[in-house]
Amino acid sequence: MTRIGIIGGGPGGYEAALVAAQLGAEVTVVDRDGLGGSAVLTDCVPSKTLIATAEVMTDTAESGELGVLIGSDAGPYGQVGVDLARVNARVTGLAQAQSDDIAARLEREGVRVLRGLGRLGGPTRVVAEPVSGGTETVEVDTVLVSTGAHPRVLPDAQPDGERILTWEQLYTLTELPEHLVVVGSGVTGAEFASAYTALGSEVTLVSSRDRVLPGEDADAAQVLEDVFKRRGMTVLSRSRAGAVRRSGDRVLVSLDDGRTVEGSHCLMAVGSIPNTAGLGLEEAGVRLGDGGFVEVDRVSRTSATGVYAAGDCTGVLMLASVAAMQGRIAMWHRLGDAVAPLNLRAVSSNVFTDPEIATVGWTENDMDDSGSTVTVKLPLATNARAKMQGVHEGFVKLFARAGSGTVVGGVVVAPRASELIFPVALAVEARLTVDQLAQSFTIYPSISGSVAEAARQLHTKVWRG
Ligand SMILES: Cc1cc2nc3c(=O)[nH]c(=O)nc-3n(C[C@H](O)[C@H](O)[C@H](O)COP(=O)(O)OP(=O)(O)OC[C@H]3O[C@@H](n4cnc5c(N)ncnc54)[C@H](O)[C@@H]3O)c2cc1C
Repeated sequence: MTRIGIIGGGPGGYEAALVAAQLGAEVTVVDRDGLGGSAVLTDCVPSKTLIATAEVMTDTAESGELGVLIGSDAGPYGQVGVDLARVNARVTGLAQAQSDDIAARLEREGVRVLRGLGRLGGPTRVVAEPVSGGTETVEVDTVLVSTGAHPRVLPDAQPDGERILTWEQLYTLTELPEHLVVVGSGVTGAEFASAYTALGSEVTLVSSRDRVLPGEDADAAQVLEDVFKRRGMTVLSRSRAGAVRRSGDRVLVSLDDGRTVEGSHCLMAVGSIPNTAGLGLEEAGVRLGDGGFVEVDRVSRTSATGVYAAGDCTGVLMLASVAAMQGRIAMWHRLGDAVAPLNLRAVSSNVFTDPEIATVGWTENDMDDSGSTVTVKLPLATNARAKMQGVHEGFVKLFARAGSGTVVGGVVVAPRASELIFPVALAVEARLTVDQLAQSFTIYPSISGSVAEAARQLHTKVWRG
């Protein structure tokens, strides 16, 4: 029986453990903080649970157009507000329950879990320091490293867990910040800025770049920035925060150009550092690249024979879905099952702001002006369902190859874009043509109707240029 040792029980680790157990391996997982990892305990699951409350608040606040009464006009229904202590109790309770479900599943599948610190004692040995005490050495045939990452901290902006916070510390808040300054306008910064605006905080978003979400589709980011401003958020572009200081109940964020921003709380969202230090990786022959990330190939192999790595510690694409796929691929490859190398072109991702931004496949930057690709952008403003729901912003954008008409990518900006991107992802993965997408039935009225309509509009561009 092949013995697999896994260090880190986040999506990269636990999904690998499930595949390895299914394929008959003897599996040991060593995990420090709780199964599900940061994804379940501090990052994805908590943030999306908080955002579920924020969504209700935005829908409510913007429902006047649909004839809903709120505020002093609301009569028996009263005013609307948020009890952050209750919200955060729900968030952390739900995250823990999800972690417990994963633990129970691994136990059912016969996976051994050691709670504690793990490191490599060479390419075929995992050394564990269980919380129960002592040291245990587990001899294995293969190790998977999936230790994740942690929030980057700036030297002059040390989190204190009360007023200057990382995203992991936000859920200890029991009262809504009166004025939250969010430093960093990448996905994490934008999601929390969006959520806290909806919950009722004044929010200032400090962005070192020209616009929010510099890594996303430029049209999508522009829609979002306009919505943020319409809802009262202050967005400071081209503003790099150098230091954050606390003074009593206030925080002072100093920008590099000499300006300062004062708020009641500050959230630092300035990137992640891989958890690869002190793991015995280099001693075992595992090469680390820039920033300390583990170098892996498309089947998750590292430079050391028999050692695989998955997830945020590899920096390939810091998403739970990618971590899980890298972990599964590692085990399929190691245990001789059918496997295809990781295909980043087919990964769909979503920014859980309001509206959401979902993307898959090619981006505008991948298009050249040779005429080999065609694109269409269809605003949602003319979609009947969007009108009924009071949705005014957003669009569907599709990219296809001229000539063959194969769908190569797309962007959806809409409420629940995360659900709407699936047909486009399916088209990209299965190399469907715009005509195949266009000829599929959609519900009338539905926002997904705009996906098919965008494909229909591409028909002419594909065949006539
Ligand atoms: C705020 C936020 C929101 C996000 N939302 C989403 C989202 O909506 N969708 C999405 O796809 N992605 C999201 N992500 C990204 C996602 O959380 C990560 O990509 C994912 O957690 C990576 O999984 P992983 O298995 O690599 O690591 P992790 O989930 O970080 O798990 C690593 C595990 O390893 C353990 N560990 C570390 N060192 C050791 C050690 N020495 N010994 C033993 N155990 C160790 C840790 O305790 C942890 O349990 C979000 C990230 C952030 C910051």
